[in-house]
Parts: sequence; C-alpha cells; structure tokens
Amino acid sequence: MDTSSPVITAETANHVLFHFGCGGYQAGSFTTHLLSAFATADEQHFHRLAAAFPEYAAAVAAIQYDPHGVINLRAIARGEVAAEAAAPQCPEALLNPETGDIRRCVQRGRHDWHQTPSGTQWRVPVDGTIEVPF
Ligand SMILES: [Zn+2]
Repeated sequence: MDTSSPVITAETANHVLFHFGCGGYQAGSFTTHLLSAFATADEQHFHRLAAAFPEYAAAVAAIQYDPHGVINLRAIARGEVAAEAAAPQCPEALLNPETGDIRRCVQRGRHDWHQTPSGTQWRVPVDGTIEVPF
C-alpha cells in the first residue's frame, strides 16, 4: 500500500477551488473534464482516477469531504503554506474484505474519527486490517 501523501500544488488547489465555485482559476480543457469526472465518480471510479491523478484526488476529496478543505486549499492556492504542512492526509485506511478495496481516510489534521470518501466513519482500529462496522 502506498502511504505517501500526494502533494497538492498551488495550481491544483486553484483548479479544484474554481471547479467547485470557491475561487481559484479555471484549468485547461482536459483538467476541467477530469475534475468533472472526479466530482461525479462513484467510490470505485474515484479510486481508479485517484491512482492516475493522486494530487487532484486529494484536492477533490478535501473540498468534498473535509470541513476545512476549502480553507486549506485556499491557503495552498495562495502559496501561504506548503501542501504537506497544511494538512497531511491521514494514513489510516479501511480494507473492504469483499472487494479488496482500500479506502483511505479523507480527513486531514487532527481528528478523532476517520472517514472514507463515501462517508463511512470509524475509530482507529487496533489492527489496521480489520473492517470496523460503524
Ligand atoms: Zn483519519
């Protein structure tokens, strides 16, 4: 499992902020379509896109699921903070034993509950491979 956090660049942050109507500036044609795909993807397709475009996946997940996502992305977009220092993505993940899918926690910074992109929440399990029903 890849545990490295994708770095959200200022450009990526601006593109995603613009796409979700939160400021920023518009991306080129391809990235605009890519962001539309991210925004409409179900969980499975989101993860397939994320494998190819991890920095956009991180930024889209932040703006859609993190209550502080817009604030963090605006700070990144303004170049005020390095992306990694702003909010490293939580390394915790849920494993779905039926599909083998690993769903990363989308939360950043300090938090008591982890959350997948689809909104499933869980506490830190003792054994990271156990799916904890919530
Ligand atoms: Zn977490």
